[in-house]
Amino acid sequence: MVPLALALDNPEADKLFKLLENGQVNNVAKVEQTLEQIAQLLADKDLDRQVRLRRARCWSYDTNNNAKVDAAIDYANTQVQMAENQAYPEALTDFRLCHGWYSQLKGNMEQAKADYDQALQQAYQLEDRRLIADARSMRGAMYSFQGNFALALEDLLTAQQLYEQLKLDYWSRYNLVDLATSFRRFGDPQSALNYYRQLEQAYRQGGHEEQAYIVNGEMAIALEELGDFEAAVTKFQQSYNYLKRQGMTIEAAGVSVNMAGSLLKLDRIEDAKQALERAKPFVTEQQGGFYSFMQLYSADVLLRQGQAEQAMVPLAKAEQSFRDISNDRGLAELYLLKSEIFAAQGLWQESTNVLKSYISLHSELDNKLQSYRTTEMRTRFNADRMAKENQRLLESERLKEQEVQILQQNRLLQLAVLILASIIIFIMAILAYKQTGKSRQFQKIAQTDHLTQLANRRYTYQRGEALFNQAKHSGIPMSVILFDADNFKDINDQFGHDGGDKVLQHLASVSQTLIREQDLLGRIGGEEFLLLLPETSREECLKIAERLRQTLAESSPEALAGESRVTISAGVATLNTELQFSELLKQADNALYRAKNKGRNRVESA
Ligand code: GH3
Ligand code: MG
Ligand code: MG
Repeated sequence: MVPLALALDNPEADKLFKLLENGQVNNVAKVEQTLEQIAQLLADKDLDRQVRLRRARCWSYDTNNNAKVDAAIDYANTQVQMAENQAYPEALTDFRLCHGWYSQLKGNMEQAKADYDQALQQAYQLEDRRLIADARSMRGAMYSFQGNFALALEDLLTAQQLYEQLKLDYWSRYNLVDLATSFRRFGDPQSALNYYRQLEQAYRQGGHEEQAYIVNGEMAIALEELGDFEAAVTKFQQSYNYLKRQGMTIEAAGVSVNMAGSLLKLDRIEDAKQALERAKPFVTEQQGGFYSFMQLYSADVLLRQGQAEQAMVPLAKAEQSFRDISNDRGLAELYLLKSEIFAAQGLWQESTNVLKSYISLHSELDNKLQSYRTTEMRTRFNADRMAKENQRLLESERLKEQEVQILQQNRLLQLAVLILASIIIFIMAILAYKQTGKSRQFQKIAQTDHLTQLANRRYTYQRGEALFNQAKHSGIPMSVILFDADNFKDINDQFGHDGGDKVLQHLASVSQTLIREQDLLGRIGGEEFLLLLPETSREECLKIAERLRQTLAESSPEALAGESRVTISAGVATLNTELQFSELLKQADNALYRAKNKGRNRVESA
């Protein structure tokens, strides 16, 4: 999945998509051109972007051209059905919206509402904020147009909030136009005008001239409703000139219809008539919104020119159209005019009946207005509160995320340090352990006599030196016993060198059992041994030496097969403070020499 996605990286196409989706390409020819460019950039197998392209294409049809709008509805329908698109629920929702939008343009409000409702439901299921915003914005604009104030505001305010959250400036402003227009339609032209002024400025600064002029047209309507018909006509004229220049004939015709309304209020009947004539070739029944008012104003012109009967023809068309597009505001205005037309014809009964219809519709509209006002307050309050809460939530979420991130980072770092340290310590411990083991082993080897496993000569002397110094320091005497096997040459002769070795081992092990823990026995020559006895007096030492001699003499080494015994001669010496350790040894050696001379198997003391 990932390598494939990488293989399909297409930043150039993505950039163009962004431009389209964010509304930055703002005329039909340029949109067409951009779509072509993208199509060239896409691989057939890049299904994701192919679907994205179809979405963009769906929204790109020229709304000024009836045939194109029909084609757009077909296209959206095909896309909703297409098997390949079923794996793209967001796209399906978008196609549904697209279908609704063009259906609305064709005046098919029921279809549009059904599409918007379905798309919105899907968008909520997908939790796709952009699609929710789009669906609510479109449905809200439609409700607003139909005079359904409460629902319009709920939709448009929600969409507004979402667009702002998503930082979709273009669509945010686009929605704001509808919101402002709703205020105007619901009897608050002053608020609407304030919005429009800000919007117009924003559009001009952003280089969106077309939108600026559309807003200009809406401002004109608000001015008209505020009773400033002169200003309204001026604005309408500006918008009309611009749209005409741009070749946007249908939009221009729409503005012309609205201008006719203001001109009628100024009693400029002839100018109003001309404005309507300019619009007529371009405004068909399909453009329900403009068509209905065009017919209504035409009827008004005819009435004021004294042609009440003829006025009934466009009036009937207007009435049908207002009903078709469910425009109650328009219908209310129409009833008023119809009542005048009947009156002008002397049809008093009809005139009164129509007036009754007007009053009932008007009170219905009043009720809606009433519910709009409470809903607006509620929605505004909710929107304010929601915006604040959202802000707070986002802020605290962001902080929390940061905290968690830092914590996790710290934890990770700590863990890494801990693991690393543990590993290092472990390795070092093993190394150290091995090292100490080794050095201990080496040390032991270096200090031990291989044959008897007793201390060797070097170590025995070293220990002897240390114990001697300690004894000298503490004043507690130490003693040494130097002993040598008697007539060992004979043993070697009789039992061989190996037998001699075994006898030496025997001597060592038996002697070892006789000494105390603090004593140290070492083999310092071939069959010569030195026993170090710390904190031992001459008397004690003599006793130990005697016991040693006797025990060894009575023991029978296995190697000698019971045929013979081995004896030792021993010389003992005890610490005298003036002495060196070597001198103590010398004394012991002298005593040993004496023992040998005196016939062996005996102990002599220095
Ligand atoms: P003396 O009673 O006077 O000590 O008589 P001796 O035979 O023990 O005489 P001496 O001390 O001069 O000779 C020691 C002999 O011990 C010489 C040598 O062959 C033998 N010897 C020395 N080291 C070893 C050894 O490691 N193994 C064996 N088997 N014999 C050894
Ligand atoms: Mg000997
Ligand atoms: Mg000897």
